[in-house]
Amino acid sequence: MSSKVYFMNMRADFEENSFAKFQRMIKNLHIENMIKPGEMTAIKLHFGEQGTFSYIHPVWVREVVQTVKKRNATPFLTDTTSLYAGGRSYAVNHIETAISHGFAYSCVNSPIIISDGLKGQDGVKVTINKNYFPDVSIASGIYHADSMVVLTHFKGHVLSGFGGALKNIGMGCADKAGKYKMHLGAMPMIKPELCKRCLLCISSCPGKAISLTEEAPQIDSKYCLGCGQCFSFCKAGVFKINWDSTPPDTVIEKMVEFAYGSLLNKVGRVFFINFLLNITPGCDCLPFSDACIVPDIGIALSLDPVALDQASVDLVNQQHVSMNNEIEDKFLSLYPQINWQRQLEYAQEIGLGSRDYELIRI
Ligand code: SF4
Ligand code: SF4
Repeated sequence: MSSKVYFMNMRADFEENSFAKFQRMIKNLHIENMIKPGEMTAIKLHFGEQGTFSYIHPVWVREVVQTVKKRNATPFLTDTTSLYAGGRSYAVNHIETAISHGFAYSCVNSPIIISDGLKGQDGVKVTINKNYFPDVSIASGIYHADSMVVLTHFKGHVLSGFGGALKNIGMGCADKAGKYKMHLGAMPMIKPELCKRCLLCISSCPGKAISLTEEAPQIDSKYCLGCGQCFSFCKAGVFKINWDSTPPDTVIEKMVEFAYGSLLNKVGRVFFINFLLNITPGCDCLPFSDACIVPDIGIALSLDPVALDQASVDLVNQQHVSMNNEIEDKFLSLYPQINWQRQLEYAQEIGLGSRDYELIRI
């Protein structure tokens, strides 16, 4: 059965500005059945790593906060601590980064709570009994919220091909231990003969796992987080996914199982909004925002994260790219070694939603 995906483009005029159009689109979901007076609603988003600017603009987040408040519920903005060192590695610096990116109360009208606690250790075990995990550890703030709105900046991703709603809840609702379990086994292999000795890896590796000996770069497995960022930042191609030790779909499927666990106690109480704006090749965890791969497309929302991500991929692939209009599959072109389809296939297989959708244009 197909799921409904609502979509608005970014055209606006004197009759109706984009925020009014956005509110008109949200009305289709009948959120009164999801967000109830007196309850707490987690608004899950990514505040952007220090150095980025392509995350969701805070004024859109404020619109969602207002929508929740109109239901007399209590919203809070939330994300979890990152696995690697950076500007979001524990609750205090994460909140400081968010505020420096414009998510101050004075703008968004809502407090920020980092849902896996001060150092990323506050998780709740959720039984899922799936192929990789009998249980997953979900950030306690998200677990205990009564309902959730998932706001996602849609873009490319080095480990999953694209980053959409499933990635946002799969990786983003896990506590630190959960993130580690998903990345485990993704340590890269090295082609030392390609090294140009530029030293970029020494300063860029979030785990501080790379060293450069006289002969070659080396990775210390004790510190490697399996984050895959070295595949991007080393332009010489020294770091490759080790397909022998990590089947290509493993990280993706693990992430989808965490996504399943994050929704299990909120069936019918979550909706998803993908912002197809500032569509960069890489994710917001990188410390920079690269040029966009296609022009801004619009905003899509659904009750079904699988249908929403499928529709978002399709909308991106229908766009022209500035360098080469003939590229049909943008994400495969960006990350040829990643089967982005697997994210959607596996999510459908384990009951997270449907890849069939009906696109309703607002
Ligand atoms: S970033 Fe790549 S090319 Fe530069 S030193 Fe590290 S491994 Fe060598
Ligand atoms: S995957 Fe690469 S960038 Fe990430 S921690 Fe390991 S060596 Fe560093």
